[in-house]
Amino acid sequence: MKFFVASALILVGSCSTLRHSEKIDNLKEGISYDDTKIVEQYLNTIIVDELRLHVEEVASEKYFGRKTGEEGHNQICNYIRDFYKSHDIKAPLTHPNYYQKVPKNALPNDLNESQNIIAYIEGSEFPDEYIYISAHSDHEGVINGQIYPGADDNGSGTAAVLEMAEAFKKAVLDGYRPKRSIVFLHVTAEEVGLHGSRYYTENPIFPIENTITALNIDMIGRVDDRHVENENYIYVIGADRISTELHFIVQEANENFNDKLQLDYKYNDISDHNRYYYRSDHYNFAVKGVPVIFFFNGEHADYTQPTDTPDKINYELLAKRTKLIFSTAWYLANSNKRLNPEII
Ligand SMILES: [Zn+2]
Repeated sequence: MKFFVASALILVGSCSTLRHSEKIDNLKEGISYDDTKIVEQYLNTIIVDELRLHVEEVASEKYFGRKTGEEGHNQICNYIRDFYKSHDIKAPLTHPNYYQKVPKNALPNDLNESQNIIAYIEGSEFPDEYIYISAHSDHEGVINGQIYPGADDNGSGTAAVLEMAEAFKKAVLDGYRPKRSIVFLHVTAEEVGLHGSRYYTENPIFPIENTITALNIDMIGRVDDRHVENENYIYVIGADRISTELHFIVQEANENFNDKLQLDYKYNDISDHNRYYYRSDHYNFAVKGVPVIFFFNGEHADYTQPTDTPDKINYELLAKRTKLIFSTAWYLANSNKRLNPEII
C-alpha cells in the first residue's frame, strides 16, 4: 500500500521525476540476459583450485613482494605473459610480446623501467569496441628485511583476471566468441602512484574513444570488519558516476546468477573520506571519460602488511566475486547495443 501512495505522490508532484523514473525503467528493461545458460556454462569454469594456484604463485616469496621494476616483479610479469601464451590468448599486433614498456621517466625517480601486460580476445561483431578487465601486478617489495607478499593486494585480482581470460577463451573455442573485444590488462606501478595505468591511458594501444568500460580489480579475496556477519559482499565503486546504465548492468548480472552477492555502495559515496574511487587504476580510465567499475573487498588488518599471505584468502568468495565480474563483462561484450556512456 505504501508503495502505491508514494507513486501517486510522485505522479502529482513532479513531471521531471516521472520522466527520469520512466527513463530508468526503460533502461532496466533493455538490460536482459538472453543467454543465461551459456554464461553459466563458463562461470562454472572459474574454479577455486585454479584461483588458489595463481594467488600462491603471485604471492610466493621467490618474487620478493613484486616491487615495480625489480627482478621479482619482472618474473611475475613473465608468469602472467606465459599464461596468455600457453592459452593462445593473443598479444596486440603492435606489442607482440604482450609488454608495453613503461619507461623510467614515467615512474618515480628510484624505480627501474617496467611493463604493463596486455592480452586480448578480438570481438566477432564489434572488434573495434573494447572492454577492459584490469588488475595491477606490482606490490610493496621488501621493507625492513620483510617480504610483503600481497596475496590479496593484488594476487587476488591478478588470479581473477587470468581465470576470466581462460573462461572467455574456452567460450571462443566452443564457438561463443564475444561480440566486442576483451582486453586483459595487468598494469605496473600501482602501489607507487597509479603510474602504469596512467601511462597506459596516455599511450593506449587500442583507441580510448572506443573503450566501452574498464572493470578494475584490486583486492577481492578477503573480508573486512564491516562484513564478518555476512561475507557474501563486494564493494562496487564508480559504476554510476559516468554511465547510469553500467550501474544497472552489474546489478542485473548479480541478480541473474546463482551466487548472489551484496553489492555494497558505501565507498561509492562521493563524500566518503577514504576516496577509494581515486585510489586504484580504474581512475585513470575515468579521467579519460571511460565508464569504470572498481571491485574491492575493503581494507583489513593485513592490508599493506607482510601478513597479507595466500593462506588468509577466502577462495570460495574470491571465486564468487570473480564470477560476478565475469558475467558483467560478458554482458558488456555481448549486448546488442553499445553501453550508453551517459548519466540519465
Ligand atoms: Zn592494490
